[in-house]
Amino acid sequence: MKTLLTRDVSEAARVLVGGGRVAFPTETVYGLGARADRAEAVAGIFEAKQRPADNPLIVHVAAPSAVLRVAEALPDHARRYMDAFWPGPLTLVLPARDDVPRIVTAGLDTVGVRMPDHPLALALLKEADVPVAAPSANRSGRPSPTSWEAVRDDLGGRIEAILQGPPARVGLESTVLDCTGAVPVVLRPGGVSLEALRSIVPETCLVTAGDGAAARSPGTRHPHYRPDAIVRWVGPFQAGEPAPSGSPSAGYIGIHPPPEGYARVCRVADQAAYAAELFHFFRQCEAEGLTEVHCERFAPDGIGHALADRIRRAVGVD
Ligand code: AMP
Ligand code: MG
Repeated sequence: MKTLLTRDVSEAARVLVGGGRVAFPTETVYGLGARADRAEAVAGIFEAKQRPADNPLIVHVAAPSAVLRVAEALPDHARRYMDAFWPGPLTLVLPARDDVPRIVTAGLDTVGVRMPDHPLALALLKEADVPVAAPSANRSGRPSPTSWEAVRDDLGGRIEAILQGPPARVGLESTVLDCTGAVPVVLRPGGVSLEALRSIVPETCLVTAGDGAAARSPGTRHPHYRPDAIVRWVGPFQAGEPAPSGSPSAGYIGIHPPPEGYARVCRVADQAAYAAELFHFFRQCEAEGLTEVHCERFAPDGIGHALADRIRRAVGVD
């Protein structure tokens, strides 16, 4: 199959409405979209990504009012989060309407919904005028794509179209927040921090292993975010600390200057910049044939919690 590369939103929307798979930019990472109201279109996403069937997809909408096209009800706290954080990197898990194909929700009676904060994504969703199921546009298990070129590298020839836009601003996926119980629970840390969520609903908590975390958020139990290189934690390399030497077959990403000897170095100003660069850096190291990527440790703050979660999974200590 030839994958259409386009910057034309209307052209991309036509492919989507016709039942095709269209990768598109969002503020978090690039998504791979298909109309959520057609089971066979959604099946194409699982096929292209080789995604395990038990991992539900997030439905993307163009406006808060469109939530009720897929959700049965909107609990009061969900409405408050929407007012505060939409459009933005926050996915709300809500009771699903009966007419949402269960391939979207991986058989669950809940559906994850979000309104992305990106002009091209919103224009595409508005023009298509259908809810769009869209996981990250990478092959399953790999780092999420933060550029259209990364989508092409992973899925070129396997999907109908890529809507080309700028690199993703946040660089990590959305926060997934379960709003179906009495107390809202973060199932996956992401672009909106727990502190920010608690400023709206103070009882918001993080899922813990004891809560059956894997069962409630099936996607988080699969291997994820892994480049074709070994990922390790190193440091932190505070100024003045004696440093071991870097490795000529490894790349380094971190806030502090690393030891001498790394083949490629990505210095970032803070945890937000670290998050924005991480997946791109993984792919760069991989493209250069480096065998390891070393990530500097840090004390997580804000988006740093999501960043640490992704690196932990890439390292493989889940
Ligand atoms: P991705 O879009 O590839 O970042 O993956 C979607 C994430 O959202 C996975 O971790 C899923 O487990 C999670 N998710 C989507 N829908 C639901 C749902 N209905 N219940 C719980 N988690 C969900
Ligand atoms: Mg993903």
